[in-house]
Amino acid sequence: HAKQAGRNTFRFFSTSMNQCQREQLELQNDMHAALENGEFELYYQAQVDAHSKSANGFEALLRWNHPTRGLLTPYTFMDIAESTGLILRIGAWVLLEACHQARAWQNEYQREVRMAVNLSALQFNDTRLAGQIEHALLESGLSPHLLELEITESAIITNMAETNYVLFGLKRLGVKLAIDDFGTGYSSLNYLRNFPIDTLKIDKSFVDYIDRNDKDAAIARTIVQLAENLGLSTVAEGVETLSQQQVLEGMGCQELQGYLYSKPITATEVENRYFK
Ligand code: C2E
Ligand code: MG
Ligand code: MG
Ligand code: MG
Repeated sequence: HAKQAGRNTFRFFSTSMNQCQREQLELQNDMHAALENGEFELYYQAQVDAHSKSANGFEALLRWNHPTRGLLTPYTFMDIAESTGLILRIGAWVLLEACHQARAWQNEYQREVRMAVNLSALQFNDTRLAGQIEHALLESGLSPHLLELEITESAIITNMAETNYVLFGLKRLGVKLAIDDFGTGYSSLNYLRNFPIDTLKIDKSFVDYIDRNDKDAAIARTIVQLAENLGLSTVAEGVETLSQQQVLEGMGCQELQGYLYSKPITATEVENRYFK
């Protein structure tokens, strides 16, 4: 009887996994054509000055307008993009598109727009990265200091010597470097000492309960102070309430990002909302 149940359980699992695998495989196949079909789109989320609340810059966030599944966020397709290596081609497109957009806004509205672009670990470890960034800057005409690259701790921690070489190579182009989701990976004070970082992004998980959890508040405050002492700037991610905003302001966090100010929106929506 037990054996019977076991077999049934196994079959149930196997079926459900196949279903999942089929879906993943389908998405994977679709992704190959998505770039050529122009199905990827960048959405933009404001990074606002903590005092004035005006937008200092925008973070480009990838979306996939899938022909049958609708608008997809990275949560549903980033793993596939990474495991297939397609993120390398997608990432190159993101860099070019984001730089073009920032420069287009500058041309059209006479505003210097800082643009933050996320890099995956795979891109970071790709020797073509610096060349792609240089190309995106030259091709778009965007000033390097207006491009900020967001890298996670896990991407930079793999090999200190190699990372140092890559980061200084990027800095030589004149771009800004931010650590994304700071405090959630293998944070090391050693890399803050050695690497040419400009910005720490306080992860949303510390912001969520910052107004009611003393430990979260203490960690966030420590990150802001650490950044201040090292001459780095701070951006808090995932700010959703006035109460969170108030606590972050009190700590001296320089920039805020989250649904309280804006969700990620299309380029056209950015124009209507911020530039007109
Ligand atoms: P991330 O870089 O840490 O981006 C922040 C994520 O939090 C974004 O999710 C954003 O939409 C979301 N968010 C911002 N404010 C709030 C808020 O107030 N509340 C809540 N609940 N969420 C908020 P998104 O756009 O789904 O992106 C998820 C992740 O996918 C990003 O995390 C980033 O790691 C990755 N990603 C996005 N675009 C790209 C890209 O072009 N290239 C690469 N390599 N990764 C990307
Ligand atoms: Mg980011
Ligand atoms: Mg983040
Ligand atoms: Mg995150």
